[in-house]
Amino acid sequence: MLRFAPSPTGDMSIEDLRIALFNYMVAKQKDVNFIVRIEDLDKERNITGKDTEIMDIIEKFALPHDSVSHQSENLHIHQTLAIRLLEEKKAFICTCTPEQLNEEQEEAKYNKVPYRYSGRCSAMGAEELHKLKEEKIPFVVRIKAPDAPIITHDLIKGDIETPADEVDSFVILNADGTPTYDFACACDDMISGISLVIRSEDQLSNTPKQIHIKTLLGYEQQADYTHLPMILNAEGKKMSTNDDASSVKWLFEHGFIPDAIANYLILLGNQTPSEIFTMPEALKWFDLSRLSKSPVIFDIDTLRSINAEHLKQMDDKRLSTLFGFADADIGKLAKLYLQEACTINELESKIKPIFAPKNFEGKWSAQMHTMEDIIQNAPMINDFNAFKAHILKESGLEGEDFFTPLRLILTGAEHGPELSEIYPLIKPYLLEVAS
Ligand code: GLU
Repeated sequence: MLRFAPSPTGDMSIEDLRIALFNYMVAKQKDVNFIVRIEDLDKERNITGKDTEIMDIIEKFALPHDSVSHQSENLHIHQTLAIRLLEEKKAFICTCTPEQLNEEQEEAKYNKVPYRYSGRCSAMGAEELHKLKEEKIPFVVRIKAPDAPIITHDLIKGDIETPADEVDSFVILNADGTPTYDFACACDDMISGISLVIRSEDQLSNTPKQIHIKTLLGYEQQADYTHLPMILNAEGKKMSTNDDASSVKWLFEHGFIPDAIANYLILLGNQTPSEIFTMPEALKWFDLSRLSKSPVIFDIDTLRSINAEHLKQMDDKRLSTLFGFADADIGKLAKLYLQEACTINELESKIKPIFAPKNFEGKWSAQMHTMEDIIQNAPMINDFNAFKAHILKESGLEGEDFFTPLRLILTGAEHGPELSEIYPLIKPYLLEVAS
């Protein structure tokens, strides 16, 4: 079983989306379940509605999942498992005050050695619980440090060994009884039987702790891991909320379509048989272990050209619906503009003026009025050359006096694709167009 475990603390990023895509794809290839777990334990950072937004995005990318849960639903399980570790003496109660811990950390800093928990409370077991609660003494629960190094099996980075003292005796249950992030995550992965965790490189330092938790909880079937290299912006810095294009919402708002975004994210840092592909195609050859070990650079221009390519491949009628039509010819018309436009928004800025009332003011005003009259009174003419000949004859205009106003009245713009290609597609709308 694989999972996507987003935190509802901000807009879904392309890094999150890449993680969702890869988890979905590998689950599909292995024919195992794929679940979504919203990690909502950080009450202060959670933003209302972000979970729904994340699920809407997953829906738009058509990533079917077997279940959706919120991590907070499992709170009592996390607490029960922490108490079990206490009772088995694999964890201990710690009443060290923040001042004491601070002092120890300062001392480590002064001695230029990494901070490790002193072990002061390590003999305090479950038997103390009752007394501490009665006396209202605040305490946390710490898991005991491992006594051997922890090995992380990473499908991209290989095996990574973390010394036991680096994992240390860390907190699994906070003073308010809530689980810490690593504890909740490890428990939930264990309960769901997650066999492969695909997530961001940011999480790499948490992995040994989570493996240690699962080991002490007696979980035998440890998972493999894949920590995906970072996505960098053009300046070589990790993409963050400062980069507009890091948000999936921003990409949608700017007219990028799911098929193209997915294509680009699968292509990034990957060796693929072609640059343009669909999800069903990618499912045939996608292989996590072939992904680049080093960070990848996000390039909006490549995404733009991939977007244009997917718009070109889109069914004509479906494309027309993006502009409020249900007419394959309008889809074909939009495709004529893909030389100069790459996104839905850019295409819309070309299509809209064709059907909008024309601006009859300016240099070509008189010629446009003449043409409007002629077109409004003309019979239905199928062929563009015959149409052109009819207006030429009726208006007596020629050269630039003819072509520029004709283009303006038919498209609302001075430049664009060949009128001979545009005309057959807008012909049924001519009375609306030329006005
Ligand atoms: N909730 C974490 C995040 O959104 C991911 C944790 C994980 O995949 O293990 O960054």
